[in-house]
Order: sequence, then structure tokens, then C-alpha cells
Amino acid sequence: MPGATHDLIVVGGGLIGSAIAWGAGRAGADVALLDEGDVAHRAARGNFGLIWLQGKGVGAPAYMRWSLQAGHLWETFAAALVDETGIDIGWRRPGGLQFCFSDEEMDGRRRVAEQTRTDGGDIAIELWDRADVLDRVPEVGPEVVGASYSPLDSHVSPLYLLRALQEGLQAGGGTYLSGAGVAALRAEAGLFVAETARGPVRGRRIVIAAGLGAADLAPQLGLSIPVRPERGQIVVTERVKPFFAYVGSGVRQTAEGSFLIGSSHEEAGFSEGTDVATAARLCASAVRTFPRLAEVNVVRLWGSLRVMTPDGKPIYEESQTHPGAFAATCHSGVTLCSAHALVLGPAIADGVLPEAVASFRSDRFHVQAH
Ligand SMILES: Cc1cc2nc3c(=O)[nH]c(=O)nc-3n(C[C@H](O)[C@H](O)[C@H](O)COP(=O)(O)OP(=O)(O)OC[C@H]3O[C@@H](n4cnc5c(N)ncnc54)[C@H](O)[C@@H]3O)c2cc1C
Repeated sequence: MPGATHDLIVVGGGLIGSAIAWGAGRAGADVALLDEGDVAHRAARGNFGLIWLQGKGVGAPAYMRWSLQAGHLWETFAAALVDETGIDIGWRRPGGLQFCFSDEEMDGRRRVAEQTRTDGGDIAIELWDRADVLDRVPEVGPEVVGASYSPLDSHVSPLYLLRALQEGLQAGGGTYLSGAGVAALRAEAGLFVAETARGPVRGRRIVIAAGLGAADLAPQLGLSIPVRPERGQIVVTERVKPFFAYVGSGVRQTAEGSFLIGSSHEEAGFSEGTDVATAARLCASAVRTFPRLAEVNVVRLWGSLRVMTPDGKPIYEESQTHPGAFAATCHSGVTLCSAHALVLGPAIADGVLPEAVASFRSDRFHVQAH
């Protein structure tokens, strides 16, 4: 609330900021969550809703461990959130399938499974041949040669998830301010001050978790969040009788019956636009997986911007020039939401970053001049 001094200001009411705010609030901090409003770029409202573990962090063991920790925490996290808010966030863990259409693709998945074991990931990735797939998912098309399967993959309704985090924060006494875009940040008299469209907000600690808006804000407190947009388009079909009980890496059936088909990876600057050619490509791929989708009507298509760091891994750091100021960003904010809520938020409320994220500082991008 403008005027009050909060324990923690969280800048950005997307999935990352809302999860940290909820977790810090539950840990006893008085939290103010500042959000820009409807004009903002918000991946939190345009994503695919997967909690996807198989293959995550291959070749980057710390990222893999952090993702797996998140995967294991989802059950506890979802139960706590639903219990607290009464909002069914639609979290289900049927296990995930990445379908393959050639032997080369199967070999690729085999390598991912092997590398995951080498990197120490305690995640079982099974390889299913066509007969195995047909046993469990008889509707797949004739071109599917197999799939990789992980029991840890799950999905959630991203919009209900976001709503539950923000309502839970407020029910616990925290403050959510929308229309409170932060124009400037500064340190003053031992406090952090966020200049917002609704007036200044003061706090003892601050986290910048403003997605694509973080790049400009972070340097003001000695932090660095070099993120860029990457567009993803998602196609939504009409509701159909459930026939795909698992979750697929690019196709999933929601609890309501719609299929989500996605998502593209495009360099389109800050444009959230859509185009028919991309939608057609996404649909063709989904029909290759499930031929009966050819008979199903498309009802919606949207574009949304991913928040990408240069190496695709998260950034978590505390400012060296302004202790008590933190930054957090990542490109899999749904997957990592449980760890942000149950581990990162409480730790930041205590003024420290968890050991698990110690290697994710932005100075890994600094090139030494010789
Ligand atoms: C097409 C697509 C599909 C995806 N699918 C998945 C998936 O299946 N699984 C997965 O794990 N992740 C997925 N993601 C990624 C996931 O959505 C993001 O990682 C997550 O939403 C990022 O959260 P964020 O809070 O950093 O950013 P955002 O969700 O973009 O939120 C940023 C927030 O900061 C606010 N803000 C910005 N600037 C300011 C400011 N100056 N002052 C105040 N507030 C500000 C904005 O209003 C916004 O609410 C997908 C993303 C896209 C685009």
C-alpha cells in the first residue's frame, strides 16, 4: 500500500513475482506485489501450462536439480494453494510424452535420458516404442514411431494458478497493487523506494521479477537482467470428449476438453501478433500426432512473449551494491513455480538466496576483457 513500509516489495505480478510474493507472505513477511496492468507483456497469461521435467537442464546439472526440486514440490504446493484459496488450479500429473516421428528423434530422446542420468537427475525417462505408445494412447497417428515418457511431467491451468497466488497473497494480509507500473527504483534512508503510477511504495527488501520489464529496472539497483522476448503462438480447439489422458510436449487436453496446441518459437521483437501460417504448422503437427484432431474446430489463437536470458537458464541474484535487492527471472515459470513459492519466496523473506540457486548469477554473462 502506498504510504506504508513493507518488509518486501515484489515488482511484477506475473508468475514469478506472484509465486515469490505468495511464498514470502506465507513465511510471515508483509509483502507488496506491484503489477503494471492490462497493457503489459505477460507470459503468465499466455503460456502452455506445462510442468515439464524430462530433458530440462540437460548439460546444466544445477538447473536440472532445481527443476527437479520444483517437480517434486508441485504436489505439496498445489495442495497448499488449493487448500488456502479454494481455487482449483487444475494441477494433474498424468505423466508426459514427447512423441517421435523418426528413429533419429528416438535416438535423440535416448541421449536425453542417458545425459539426464549422467547429470544426476533422479527422473526416470522411459522410452516407449510404437507398440508401447499404442497400448496407452491408441489414438496416435501412423507416423508416430515412439515417445519418451516421464511420470514427473504434469500440467496446470496457468490463469487459475496466477489468480490463486494473488488471492492467496491477499488473503494472508499481503497487498496486490495493479495499475502500479514501476517507473523508477532507488535506495533511500535504508529502504527501497518504487515509484509507481499509484505513488511511491517503500520496503526493506525488494525483488525485481518483472519479466521483460525487468531489463530496464534492474540496473537502477546494481542488478542485471539481460532478457529478450521470444514469441510463442498457441492454438486452442473446441471442447472434445477426453481421449488423451497424458500431457504432451506440444499438445495437451485441458480438464474442460479443449486441446492446446503449441507453441512456436519466433523472433518477433515485442509483437504479440499471430499468423495463419504458424497456426497451420502447429495444427499440422498436432494432426500428425492425433489424426482425429483434423475434424476438430479451432476456436482461438494467441501470441505471447517468453522471457529469455542469453543462455536460457534462470537468473537469481542479490545486488552487491544494494544488499536486500534481488532479481529473479526464468523461461519456465510454470515448471519452477512450486520452488519459487516454497523455497525462493521464504528465503528472500529472510534476506538470502537459497544455496540451490547460487550458480545462477548474471555475471556468468560478463565477458572478461583481455
Ligand atoms: C507461449 C508460451 C508458452 C509457455 N509455456 C510454458 C510452459 O508450458 N511451462 C512453463 O514452465 N513455462 C512456460 N512459459 C513461460 C512462462 O509463462 C514464463 O516463464 C513466466 O510467465 C514468466 O513469468 P514472469 O513473472 O517472469 O513474467 P511475466 O509472466 O511476463 O510477468 C511479468 C509481469 O511483470 C509486470 N511488469 C513488467 N514491467 C513492470 C513494471 N515496470 N512495473 C510493474 N510491473 C511490471 C507485468 O505487468 C507482468 O505482469 C511459456 C511462455 C510463453 C510465452
